[in-house]
Amino acid sequence: MDIKQAKEKMMALQAKASAYTHALGSIYYDAATVAPKETSSNRAHSMGILNEELYKLMTGEETVELLEFLDSKKEELTEKERRMVFLMLKDLNFMKKIPIDEYIAYQELRVKAEAIWHKAKEADDFEMFEPYLKDIFETNRRFAKYCEPDKDPYDYWLNEFEEGASKEYCDSFFNELKNELVPLIAKISNAQQVDDSFLHGHFDKAKQEELAYYLMKTMGIDLDHCGLGVTEHPFTESLGSHHDVRITTNYQEDFLASSLYSVVHEGGHALYDLHSEDDLAYTVLDGGVSMGIHESQSRFYENLLGRSKEFITLILPKLKELFPEQLKDKTVDEVYKAINLSRPSLIRTEADEVTYCLHIMVRYELEKRVMSGELDVHDLPSEWNKLYKEYLGVDVPDDKNGVLQDTHWSGGAIGYFPSYALGSAYGAQLLEKMSQSVDVKGCIESGNFAPINEWNNENIWKYGRLYSPNTLLTKALDGEFSAKSYVDYLKKKYSDIYGFTID
Ligand code: ZN
Repeated sequence: MDIKQAKEKMMALQAKASAYTHALGSIYYDAATVAPKETSSNRAHSMGILNEELYKLMTGEETVELLEFLDSKKEELTEKERRMVFLMLKDLNFMKKIPIDEYIAYQELRVKAEAIWHKAKEADDFEMFEPYLKDIFETNRRFAKYCEPDKDPYDYWLNEFEEGASKEYCDSFFNELKNELVPLIAKISNAQQVDDSFLHGHFDKAKQEELAYYLMKTMGIDLDHCGLGVTEHPFTESLGSHHDVRITTNYQEDFLASSLYSVVHEGGHALYDLHSEDDLAYTVLDGGVSMGIHESQSRFYENLLGRSKEFITLILPKLKELFPEQLKDKTVDEVYKAINLSRPSLIRTEADEVTYCLHIMVRYELEKRVMSGELDVHDLPSEWNKLYKEYLGVDVPDDKNGVLQDTHWSGGAIGYFPSYALGSAYGAQLLEKMSQSVDVKGCIESGNFAPINEWNNENIWKYGRLYSPNTLLTKALDGEFSAKSYVDYLKKKYSDIYGFTID
């Protein structure tokens, strides 16, 4: 095989794989949105076969030979081709190092654990979930050792979700946040409280849907390439092929801000996925590079732009047109303060911008300690409650609203949570950088998102998965990442809203 043929083969391999992921993604999206209840066995049948074919395609002897051959000829590859080989070999090595029977058992464990987690949460019964969770932690620890015997298992998983992340990296990041945010939250709690009662009431679903499409258009999302569906938990799904994305939302008729900000958040994910450069189509480089960078984009639109005074100025006329009764007397200032209301709470997904990272920090601390063997899974609920009291000052009444609230651990995603907090902080620093060349506030207020989107495209989106998160960030920022921009942003914003000074 000569190098030219090998390159052609590699492109064909990726094109084929992307057709499988396209089919799998479409089936998943159908299941989550419109599929009738009793159709899951049909999907399980198709997905089982497609997944097996994809597995065989990506791990078969011919693929191994091809990728190893190309890897040995690195100097004859372009930058993009080198990254393709690297990413595919990385997945391949993982699959090769895990004994196949253990891998299958783990997939079954995850499916079972997720089903049990649903029941345990509903029944507020941690003990029911405990043996499964224990098994998941143990398996993740064992798999990490198979893959990189010399690496700390939690470091291994942190790096899997956010290439470059480690305990050392996260410890220093979270320590800085903790030192700054815990006192800030205490100050907010002692300040005069904000009224957001007018955001709760009755907001017609059809009107909220009209608002959702208005927001997508305002953000510059091409509706010919991005669909909107309704699910219980909003998400974004890229359909394996190029420029083909779906987002979902959930219309809560008693709370206006819920779907509004879900759409802006998922819209941020969609913008990122929609803008991979054309020559990355049908390759493993198409789409977002990591969870952290993805969240940096979704939270950028949701919080940094979407919860700014300029954005409220822009959308308030539309809000008043759709919901005149509830909002006719409200000023920009009143709505701005209401949508930024900060109050320590129990549930991560409902948390405001300031307290959000402390929810993440609780999870980070706990999974770190369980992975190192310092904490037993059995003691997770009591430690959870202790940390909520310490960081957020709230008493956790039951496990349903405590340790059982998130689905992530049941699916084996240990080491995933930190990427949410990292993403928020990446976003704040990216905004600072963008503001040096773009009049961000002016753009938002006038509804002209093009210069903002263009900056994100030039610095983040178009590269897809070509660079590691760290390289991408360093290039975009023209410097190193630090939590400082994020902390400064939160302190300034919330001291203004709640009317206190910061030292
Ligand atoms: Zn997200």
